[in-house]
Amino acid sequence: MTYDLPTKEGYFGNFGGKFVPEILIPVLEELEEAYNEAWQDDEFQAEYRHLLNEYVGRPTKLTYTNRLTDHYGKAKIYLKREDLCHTGAHKINNAIGQILLARRMGKDRIIAETGAGQHGVATATACAKFGVDCIVYMGAEDMERQKLNVERMRLLGTEVRSVTSGSQTLKDATNEAIRDWVTNVEDTFYIIGSVVGPHPYPKMVRNFHKVIGDEIRDQLKEAEGREVPDHLLACVGGGSNAIGAFYPFIEDEEVKMYGLEAAGLGADTDETAATLTIGTPGVLHGSMSYLLHDADGQIQLAHSISAGLDYPGIGPEHSYLHETKRVQYHSITDEQAMEGVKLLSETEGIIPALETAHAIAYLDELMPNTEKDEIVVLNCSGRGDKDMTTISNNL
Ligand SMILES: *Cc1c(COP(=O)(O)O)cnc(C)c1O
Repeated sequence: MTYDLPTKEGYFGNFGGKFVPEILIPVLEELEEAYNEAWQDDEFQAEYRHLLNEYVGRPTKLTYTNRLTDHYGKAKIYLKREDLCHTGAHKINNAIGQILLARRMGKDRIIAETGAGQHGVATATACAKFGVDCIVYMGAEDMERQKLNVERMRLLGTEVRSVTSGSQTLKDATNEAIRDWVTNVEDTFYIIGSVVGPHPYPKMVRNFHKVIGDEIRDQLKEAEGREVPDHLLACVGGGSNAIGAFYPFIEDEEVKMYGLEAAGLGADTDETAATLTIGTPGVLHGSMSYLLHDADGQIQLAHSISAGLDYPGIGPEHSYLHETKRVQYHSITDEQAMEGVKLLSETEGIIPALETAHAIAYLDELMPNTEKDEIVVLNCSGRGDKDMTTISNNL
């Protein structure tokens, strides 16, 4: 099977596309052209790779977990350590890639939206590194809940703009960022934080993260003499860390892949973010994908214990991989995620992010069905320091 998506128009099957105000169409075309050129350009690649190495700290380790493996007594479990990236999660891979592109396009004003603040911090970090002006839109409610990240962004020299419309959370911040972009397209580059938004963002962000899966291949070869795992797991919010790990293995049909989304209090309750489990297709923030709607077709407020999975949509490529069943998606409750945090902390001395903990929690289901000679790789998307308050309140 060869996998060559998205199409030229930005579709993964029925999902993706460019559902944006007309004024943005030429802007997206300009972006796509600049991206395609940059991605083929050796000089761009060299600078991007150099920064990933010297600044982000790549390649990140592939750590064998002896105690976690013994805990289940089945397949060998490895962790891909994105928690060891500068700023503590994978998001910086993409922020660095996009800021290099912005510079190449001569855009010297960066905007971004953020929910939990993690993408805001990664963007603010990259902007400080390059000395570029940065404005981050954030819901007033989220600013209250994520004070520490607001302080981080400010310390890094970013202006955080409070958004007081609607539910005052991520989807409103995204609307505001899009409004700013439409008004200031000449000099402004919009850094989107996951594999969502209109084409070419889902493809571009995927490719800035595919270094994760490429490294897994090399490192597994080194450690085990084989390039592919039997099982590959990652948590899914918008889906960027997952697609970064999955994409290089999509054509290897023997690799079973699992995307773990947040069920919140339960996929059968209103307090959930289990987009693929209970959502239906629709358009949000510029692309067609699975979404959580209420009975009137309005976007539903998502809930998850982990702020980074608390999004009512999902990247269009995941909707496609779900429908074609190439990847299995399951949902994990807040309570299960807390068990996952405890398990990895106690067995391996690694406190994972609450997002990552959703993937760890799925091991309870997966591991009994594995064999001793099989290999499991779990993408450890981030570290848990940022979540300590939530974690201690829920222990
Ligand atoms: C933001 C975040 C996620 C969720 O985003 P994806 O785009 O789905 O990867 C997962 N883990 C961590 C640590 C994050 O910060």
